[in-house]
Amino acid sequence: MENNLTKYKIGTCKFCRQSVALMKDYDTWEEAEQAATAACKCEEGKVFRRAAQEKATIQEIFGKDDPEAQKLICTLADAVREGYILGATLKLDDGVTAKLRGKDGVVLVSRAEKQEHQRSI
Ligand SMILES: [Zn+2]
Repeated sequence: MENNLTKYKIGTCKFCRQSVALMKDYDTWEEAEQAATAACKCEEGKVFRRAAQEKATIQEIFGKDDPEAQKLICTLADAVREGYILGATLKLDDGVTAKLRGKDGVVLVSRAEKQEHQRSI
């Protein structure tokens, strides 16, 4: 092949080191590795994919909330998934409550906005 640009059509999974044929070409080895890790069927890759999906979901639900709070929720989700804690309730700004709990190996996350207005008198 007379192509100066190397394209990567096969990547290596970061976890099990097995080669994975990719759906498209990637320009860099890093991108190919990332895609391979995401596409790999090994157990470790599964956990990685689930974690990535979880972070995307947290961003989707808490996208409008404080970025630092989102990071904390991600950290708590990891802790729930890994079994360090069973669940967590987090009070954010503006009466928003984040709840996390583990169920059958998945982390359930919910966001509740308090409608009632509490005042000090
Ligand atoms: Zn793998």
